[in-house]
Amino acid sequence: MRLPKISKTPCKDKPNLKDLDLHEIETCIAPLGKETYRARQIMKWLYQFGAESFEEMTNLSKDFRVALNDIARIGQLDIAKTQTSADGTKKVLFRLEDGHSIESVLIPGKNHWTLCVSTQAGCRMGCTFCLTGEQGFRRNLLPSEITGQITRLRFGTPEGENIKNIVMMGMGEPLANYENTIKAIRIMTSDFGLGFSNRKVTVSTCGIAPMIKQMGQDICVNLAISLNAPDNKRRSELMPINRTYPLETLLAACRDYPMPGRRMLTFEYILMAGINDAPEDAEKLARLLKGIRCKLNLIALNEFPGSKYKTPSQETVSNFQQILMNHHYTAILRASKGSDILAACGQLSGQANSHSY
Ligand code: SAH
Ligand code: SF4
Repeated sequence: MRLPKISKTPCKDKPNLKDLDLHEIETCIAPLGKETYRARQIMKWLYQFGAESFEEMTNLSKDFRVALNDIARIGQLDIAKTQTSADGTKKVLFRLEDGHSIESVLIPGKNHWTLCVSTQAGCRMGCTFCLTGEQGFRRNLLPSEITGQITRLRFGTPEGENIKNIVMMGMGEPLANYENTIKAIRIMTSDFGLGFSNRKVTVSTCGIAPMIKQMGQDICVNLAISLNAPDNKRRSELMPINRTYPLETLLAACRDYPMPGRRMLTFEYILMAGINDAPEDAEKLARLLKGIRCKLNLIALNEFPGSKYKTPSQETVSNFQQILMNHHYTAILRASKGSDILAACGQLSGQANSHSY
């Protein structure tokens, strides 16, 4: 029997299988009278072989593939533009089905790539140093749009198969899109899904304390906190979320966050000239984090057109780092990769810049 031609045009009314986790796919195919292990086969096709149509799923019967096509669809993100920085960092602009745009950043390591993914189109947290925040909120990303950044690059680019780390530090606040982010992480770390070890996935948050608690109960991934100030007064000015969850509440949630083995929390601290970069601030920070098993990522502010704050001098940054090291902290100076194409932290806007390479 010849397989009837399956249309590739997505019908938006049908669920996108990439928005469903394993259990939901099982439920979705149950009315077709199929064994539950078929759901695992489907997931493998989607995430491990990059199937874009049911036709490709050759270990499923033809009848089943046709029936699947009647009830579900396979969505795919479109790459609108890729830009490459002088240091090798690549910024990828994706166009979503409804026309919104998001960005991911591929950061080169020695023998691997780290992929920085977005969890929202825009962000409503309003941090005053961040371009994404300045541009406001458009919408939450669906699970398929979060994992889609990975699958599209994994199967569609030469770097793809060497993506070894996922950091949720692109556009948006992952814990403000909690359900979709957690589902996406479950798919990322499933043996039938993208197959990442949970040690290779990091969620970065501005500090929504109750959701940090919740996440500690639901999944086990690395946690990074954007701290950026050593006291409530300045943190509230830079990051409005601090007015709702001040440092005491945030750090209590961090202390309780379960980190297995030798893993450590990461605190990110953007150094801004004359705002939070004084030696006394480093001393204050050392006292604030005392007793928390953590490392510190120091980032010299990445300026963007119209940014209010300025990057401190190299010397100021080194002094700040040295003070923390004197207090026995691991304080890493994070190199700002891709700043020439506005691909560095805080520079993502979801809009293509004027030049591409
Ligand atoms: N919303 C999450 C994750 C996305 S922001 C969060 O805030 O953690 C990702 C990282 O970019 C954060 O660590 C944030 O502090 C940093 N960032 C934002 N604006 C920046 C800028 N202008 N320069 C350097 N880092 C910036
Ligand atoms: Fe949103 Fe993070 Fe930017 Fe703050 S730093 S505005 S939370 S993306």
